Amino acid sequence: MRQMQIPGHIDPVPVPRPDNVTPRADGRVELMGLKREDIRDLFAEAGLDPKQAKLRSKQVFHWIYHRGVGDFADMTDISKTMRPWLAQRFIVGRPEIVEAQISEDGTRKWLLQTADGHDYEMVFIPDADRGTLCISSQVGCTLNCTFCHTGTMRLVRNLTPGEIVGQVMLARDALGEWPKGAMDGLDDAEDSGDYRADGRLLTNIVLMGMGEPLYNFDNVRDAMKIVMHPEGLSLSRRRITLSTSGVVPLMERAGEEIGVNLAVSLHATNKAVRDEIVPINKKYGLEELLAACAAYPGASNARRITFEYVMLKDKNDSDEDAHELVRLIKRYDLPAKVNLIPFNPWQGAIYECSTPERIKRFSNIIFEAGISAPVRTPRGRDIDAACGQLKTAAEKKSRAQLDREAAALAEQ
Ligand code: SAH
Ligand code: SF4
Repeated sequence: MRQMQIPGHIDPVPVPRPDNVTPRADGRVELMGLKREDIRDLFAEAGLDPKQAKLRSKQVFHWIYHRGVGDFADMTDISKTMRPWLAQRFIVGRPEIVEAQISEDGTRKWLLQTADGHDYEMVFIPDADRGTLCISSQVGCTLNCTFCHTGTMRLVRNLTPGEIVGQVMLARDALGEWPKGAMDGLDDAEDSGDYRADGRLLTNIVLMGMGEPLYNFDNVRDAMKIVMHPEGLSLSRRRITLSTSGVVPLMERAGEEIGVNLAVSLHATNKAVRDEIVPINKKYGLEELLAACAAYPGASNARRITFEYVMLKDKNDSDEDAHELVRLIKRYDLPAKVNLIPFNPWQGAIYECSTPERIKRFSNIIFEAGISAPVRTPRGRDIDAACGQLKTAAEKKSRAQLDREAAALAEQ
């Protein structure tokens, strides 16, 4: 079986396993995350003739991803005898929820677990005009950005397409956002005119959770293809943003093969500071990175590249830094906007967040140069809805839980 090659520093992946199949113990095959053609091939392998396999895969794909229905018994346009046949062989699961929290400001956070026991997380941020789901692409990260808590964890493994799409499916479940309207009585899968997706809560997706999405390129691409597929979750690529720390060699392919909006974790304007806080900079430097941004397929004034910039006190937040940021954006003639992120502290972090006055001043300098530079409002602070923090809280708790269990055992 193929094992995904991760460029650069490679942490050993403990259990060799296929990279794009969500593992299961009961022998049934997990369909979540599979493309229509993969489902067709599996149906054919299980004994359906090619024509049947094609038709059934089309129907099942639509039920799973477009309507959020994973129980074959509810797939009403599939014959009554075939439904149990499918259910014996296949399953459509969701990531397991370890913990779900809702913040005072409406932000929701989920700690999820893969079937082989790894925790990862997802956050939903509702705003007046949009709802953004922040999803993870890996468990841990191979990179070691010094201000990022995920950077302190080792990479455990890439998430499968099923685990990535599964996050979006789960959020739609939780928000009650599957298409309303006639759910049965459809003659065949073509007849999709009498219902519509009328959810308004989840409008945008950002790949800004745990992990470096471009180091899990194939799975992220395949997952996003299902999310964007008109018969799938049907979300526009204009509403999806992939954030990279700057994996230069894969940026062009990301534009061509995924086609979503690009965000780049810039965070510094000179080599010394970026080498320190975003160490991938030692491999792919600022000039190379900005040139790759300038060449990003599909970037335009209507679809700007977002430069993320975490505000670290006395590290990268001077007036000089702001002016340099403007100069770089202009030098490369980039259709850019800047997203200033107040540093979210975590236990053991060696940085502090810049003062609100400093952040305001930094923002104004960029704004006065004609570049949009909003400051991201911290959301869900009361539930630690940022970068690797819930996972840690849950790990602490589960350790306490383990201690309790050990104590209970000792008493027996
Ligand atoms: N690995 C990708 C995407 C995940 S991180 C990347 O680095 O771009 C998403 C964003 O959150 C990045 O811009 C990252 O630099 C930022 N980030 C990480 N830890 C942070 C923290 N403690 N406070 C504020 N922003 C943080
Ligand atoms: Fe990984 Fe992104 Fe965190 Fe850097 S900022 S350690 S690339 S998740």
